[in-house]
Amino acid sequence: MLTCRSLGASFYLFLSRSPSRTSIWDKPRLLEQLQTSPLTLVTSIIHNLLIALRPNPSKPTAGMPPITVVCISDTHSQYPSIPNGDLLIHAGDLTNSGSRSDIQKTINWLNTLPHLHKVVVAGNHDNWLDPTSSARKSDPEEHIDWGTVIYLEYRRVELEFAGGRSLKVYGAPGIPYIGNGHAFQYNHKFGENPFLNMPEGIDILITHTPPATHLDNQLGCFALLTELWRVKPILHVFGHCHSGYGTSRVYFDAAQHLLDALKLSDAKTPQDALEASPAGWKRDIRPSMRWLNAATVIIDDILAICSGIFLKKPLGGEERGGSLLLNAAMMYCTTQNVTNPATLVVL
Ligand SMILES: [Zn+2]
Repeated sequence: MLTCRSLGASFYLFLSRSPSRTSIWDKPRLLEQLQTSPLTLVTSIIHNLLIALRPNPSKPTAGMPPITVVCISDTHSQYPSIPNGDLLIHAGDLTNSGSRSDIQKTINWLNTLPHLHKVVVAGNHDNWLDPTSSARKSDPEEHIDWGTVIYLEYRRVELEFAGGRSLKVYGAPGIPYIGNGHAFQYNHKFGENPFLNMPEGIDILITHTPPATHLDNQLGCFALLTELWRVKPILHVFGHCHSGYGTSRVYFDAAQHLLDALKLSDAKTPQDALEASPAGWKRDIRPSMRWLNAATVIIDDILAICSGIFLKKPLGGEERGGSLLLNAAMMYCTTQNVTNPATLVVL
């Protein structure tokens, strides 16, 4: 007969099992998330349900012609079918090999697509585009014929659309260091941060790396998260961590700040990402500030919904309602199959 004691022992053994994930690029399994922090997991689930009840931060501007933005990333030298729209964004990993000829083939393919504007950034697989790469240095006279494709490498562009509308777009290719042989890497250990000069007032931010804590498999960039809170674009498009494909809403308020802090306290480096600590969940059993912070996240989310309904203004008085974050990686998880569909956003 099952007793509380035997149930407790079974649960303890369950949480102490080794997680079965074999690659840091795989999505963390539920068991691993429970082992790391049941408190963070439950708080995140409730937070995501509650923010779905808040206004869409990227909804079309009333009375203005809508702009359809088609977001793709991580096509890795494959040429999937792409829906039409006004603006096509490719967030990097145009190729697998990173050679100039493969990059040119992908740019030629993008030039055949009918979108009014096409904007790309490079990814860590697009080595020839990195001015510091040996491939580029040994090929100094060659260039890419971009056609009508706009290439952004730590710079911004302002695009015009029908009805006199315009969008300011900034693109940056950098990723946190993951190992030799990759392009556009920087290392937090040496204080490097390629996003410091990102301008404010931009509508769309395109990076190859996700920001930490958002659709990133715990592999996103901490510095980019800080700059995201400073810049607050309407839309942030990225890729890189294929298993993080999807969208998430961010409202720059106290609830999001506390939830980010909870997640950052659980964060691991890529080197120890597979070593989920079976002791992590034990920390959540003891009452601590983490409990208070988790409760505050949920209470603040509920207050924000009530404020929106009854006072018709967002809690905290933020000038912009929030950002839509979008991991557009089309390559499915750790396979070589480009099967995730392009993501459409109407602004
Ligand atoms: Zn990729």
